[in-house]
Amino acid sequence: MPTGNDPLRLIVFGRQGAGKGTQAARLAAHYGIPHISTGDMLRAAAASGSEFGLQVKAIMDEGGLVSDEVMEGVVAERLGQPDAQPGFLLDGYPRTPGQAEYLQGLLAPQGVRLAINLEVPEDVVVERITGRRVCSQCGTVYAVGRDESAATGVCAKCGGAVVQREDDTEEAVRKRLALYAQSTEPLLAWFRERDLLADVDGVGDPDDIAVELVRIIDARTGAAT
Ligand code: AMP
Repeated sequence: MPTGNDPLRLIVFGRQGAGKGTQAARLAAHYGIPHISTGDMLRAAAASGSEFGLQVKAIMDEGGLVSDEVMEGVVAERLGQPDAQPGFLLDGYPRTPGQAEYLQGLLAPQGVRLAINLEVPEDVVVERITGRRVCSQCGTVYAVGRDESAATGVCAKCGGAVVQREDDTEEAVRKRLALYAQSTEPLLAWFRERDLLADVDGVGDPDDIAVELVRIIDARTGAAT
């Protein structure tokens, strides 16, 4: 049974548009632990132009997954860094039950303390993403129904054209969400079976959701004691 002194090793799941990035950053700041996103790490490797990075980039560009063996090396190295010793918030890993098994072995005997599933209904996510508009010049993001630039098509910051990204159409979003559900369900089940999953309602004010997340994490892990 883990105690409040054990490292706070958390995992966060949430589909695109669920606000996972926002909440992960807040939780990491609240608990003083690093937010470790394997997607960000792999993108940084790809941008560095190293041999490893180029291999990874080819896989990501095809929409594939980096092999479990390669990910094991990446994750073991990152979680072994000094800043991750008090704990971490892992985002993007594990992505397969095999990765979950590996992670539990790597972190034995305490293992993962809690996996959070930030839940937002599909229709809400579709509305959020399809209502998103982006300045093609400066990248500022606007929301239909909230920002004038989304309606006028002219960026308030730089005057650039405000457009909808090709992959933000309803069809593309629903396809991505279906793929996410298919690949993530077995993982959620894996953590649920081990009584390590907390389902958290991700609809509402981000401040309120952050408070609720801290309450649940503290209660389930004894982090505040
Ligand atoms: P993300 O930002 O989490 O969507 O990750 C971007 C891309 O990085 C994914 O589409 C995969 O190609 C790769 N990736 C990130 N995490 C993993 C992982 N745990 N296992 C395999 N591939 C991953």
